[in-house]
Amino acid sequence: SDHSLTYPKSPADMDWASLYPAYSLKKSEEVVNDAGGMEVCGSHDETPSDKIRKSTRATTKNVEIADIGCGFGGLLFALAPQFPDTLILGMEIRMSVTEYVHDKIRALRVQNAASDTGTYQNIAVLRANTMKFLPNFFTKHQLHSIFLCFPDPHFKQRKHKARIVSYTLNSEYAYVLRPGGIVYTITDVKDLHEWMVGHFEKHPSFERVGEEEYDGEGDGEIRQRVRIMRTETEEGKKVERNNGDKFVALFRRTEDPPWP
Ligand code: SAM
Repeated sequence: SDHSLTYPKSPADMDWASLYPAYSLKKSEEVVNDAGGMEVCGSHDETPSDKIRKSTRATTKNVEIADIGCGFGGLLFALAPQFPDTLILGMEIRMSVTEYVHDKIRALRVQNAASDTGTYQNIAVLRANTMKFLPNFFTKHQLHSIFLCFPDPHFKQRKHKARIVSYTLNSEYAYVLRPGGIVYTITDVKDLHEWMVGHFEKHPSFERVGEEEYDGEGDGEIRQRVRIMRTETEEGKKVERNNGDKFVALFRRTEDPPWP
């Protein structure tokens, strides 16, 4: 159950600096901050001390990749050194699993503190029910990638409402994803794959990405991310061991139509 979960009132109320301490925005920087692009004071009736207090929780960069239902974090740990300049956030509802990922990130940061190939300062995990209040964590168009890797299938018809892809949730993904950004999906359950494809294709803010853009060898960030998603998630490894199928589908956030 998620009764004990708390949610920030807005993205500016989040303590981002405690998640990404290496990217913490210092107080002195806040006073002269004019180029950071990080909005540290949301509403008009804040006092100056509120602004300072909030700024100490802000970071010099915003999260741009979210792994929804990250489980044991395999994707995060693989993405971290590949995209060292991007802040990546795993979101997971189970407390013990979140704690496991948290502890592993802490250990990796210590072990790799002097590493040239990645210090794991750019990944973090948060316990949350992502079916609720996603826009409280991210501002409009903040993310460039959202991963939905092996979501729980909820096979029975009456359980379908628990799936993390639906018209309503897709509208939330569209809100936090910037135009041109991509939702990456993978599952071993054909029925769920078809469900996800159907729901994203009928949503006006998404269009399907052609296989030629992401399949096979070759360079490019999209291909690289798809390779990692296929091989580095815990579920992806399990399916590999059982010689199961993996169904991949990507959806690009389209531009919003101009106001009439
Ligand atoms: N993505 C990981 C992977 O590919 O190995 C884990 C896949 S696992 C089958 C699905 C995960 O989603 C579980 O860890 C589950 O706790 C989490 N989950 C399910 N519903 C969620 C929700 N509403 N919010 C956050 N996490 C959720």
